[in-house]
Amino acid sequence: MNTDIKHMLETIEREARLTASYTGRERFADAVMAAMAAVNRADFVPNVAHSQAFSNVPLAIGYGQTISQPYIVALMTDLLDLSQEDRVLELGTGSGYQAAILAKLAKQVYSLERIESLAESAASRLRQLGFNNVSCRHSNGYQGWPEESPFDAIIITAASPFVPSALLEQLKAGGRLVVPLADRGLYQQLTLFTKNQQGETASRPILAVSFVPLIDD
Ligand code: SAH
Repeated sequence: MNTDIKHMLETIEREARLTASYTGRERFADAVMAAMAAVNRADFVPNVAHSQAFSNVPLAIGYGQTISQPYIVALMTDLLDLSQEDRVLELGTGSGYQAAILAKLAKQVYSLERIESLAESAASRLRQLGFNNVSCRHSNGYQGWPEESPFDAIIITAASPFVPSALLEQLKAGGRLVVPLADRGLYQQLTLFTKNQQGETASRPILAVSFVPLIDD
């Protein structure tokens, strides 16, 4: 394995141990770590950021947007507890990196992005890299993707003060939704919502994080 990727995986493992008292997860699933090892983050970041592609830092991807640090991508993915039969909705395609990780673990990924050129470049990048089970669409994610719902899991990769109600409706019974919930100030609480078989949702705060905002227009 490439030493940069090996180092990135070790950093994720260390961070997972250090944050276990908050997240309840001492280590992430082997399948999640294998997906992190298999997807080349350098393919998703601009050329100027290549030297930093495997550092545990967020990176700018243009249009004022960022790709999260690898540890946060791994944590959010792990919280979704995906299985190979799952259909997953992502809000905020950005570079397509998170979608690629999800694509390794689930059956089909549906990803929405409100900035047209990011939506287009992520879709063509994912196609070129052979991720055939990711569908991208340029649209405002607040409405979710009703035609393809319901979803086993939903991931929101931008900060929102609330979970758009359409998204909770589009989550299956037994489903998981992870979102950085904005409070006040710079930080958000990464929050895990679960829906039980009766259709009732419960939520649990996981960790303080910092994301770009989800925009409703
Ligand atoms: N998951 C991405 C990073 C996401 S950054 C990756 O792996 O690269 C957050 C993204 O959410 C940005 O691209 C931003 O344009 C997008 N976004 C913000 N508001 C949105 C909305 N209402 N609907 C869909 N996408 C949105």
